Amino acid sequence: MRINRHNHQLTNVPQRETPNRGGIIEPCYLVFHFTAGESIQSAVDWFCNPESKASAHLVIGRDGRIIQLAPFNVRTWHAGRSHWEGVSGLNQCSIGIEMVNAGRLSKVGGSYFSWFNVEYAENEVVEAEHKFENAASYWHAYTEKQLECAAELADMLVNTYNLRGIVGHDDIAPGRKCDPGPAFPLEKVRSRAFNRHEPKAIPVEDAFKSTGNGDAVTGNDESAPSPLMMGMALSIPEAVDRKSSAGEGKRERGNLMDWLRAGRRVFGRQ
Ligand SMILES: [Zn+2]
Repeated sequence: MRINRHNHQLTNVPQRETPNRGGIIEPCYLVFHFTAGESIQSAVDWFCNPESKASAHLVIGRDGRIIQLAPFNVRTWHAGRSHWEGVSGLNQCSIGIEMVNAGRLSKVGGSYFSWFNVEYAENEVVEAEHKFENAASYWHAYTEKQLECAAELADMLVNTYNLRGIVGHDDIAPGRKCDPGPAFPLEKVRSRAFNRHEPKAIPVEDAFKSTGNGDAVTGNDESAPSPLMMGMALSIPEAVDRKSSAGEGKRERGNLMDWLRAGRRVFGRQ
């Protein structure tokens, strides 16, 4: 699984196009949600129904299956009224991932039920206190496959889009939303993604290519630390003078822009 940087879609992942979408965005955050529903199919149908006026970029099923509903650079409608780090309305700058999960459960006798009245076995229940509440309650557990998938996607998205943060819907709409809730290991997902990719370390030869082409580098680049340290001077070699062999000897503006871009890529997000 990779992110195709040209169409902002995951490769080898089924695509369904949601009509609930807006214009082009430049994502800065990743927002996790739960669907408060039973299946990936019901979630995708809901997010593709114009009447729901809701959507997200990805839905992750209980079995780890992923369906993409919009390219990552297109606005979807997952955050609603929300605020974070001075930004209001996170849909304008975030990628939304919906995890199929029933959400908060009610205990009736010895049994656990979702709001839509499906019973869940005890081994699918997490008893935990929500970070904004002061008493424990019952939550539908995420599956291992779902969490592996969420962690891998977070790594890839942080790396590809130089994201500034990973948050829960409850972080950006406290009091109004409680998803993805205490059963979701947000802190682990966040620290894994940022430990691997900040500062961004890429081989220097790659940094000197003008622009990224083709698929994103995913997953395995952390073993190749950049040979450049912060503060190390960069000298611009002959190669910048592309016209010198033709006797012109003038620097092209475009090349300087390439160098600036390459520098940004070496030294990480700004
Ligand atoms: Zn949500």
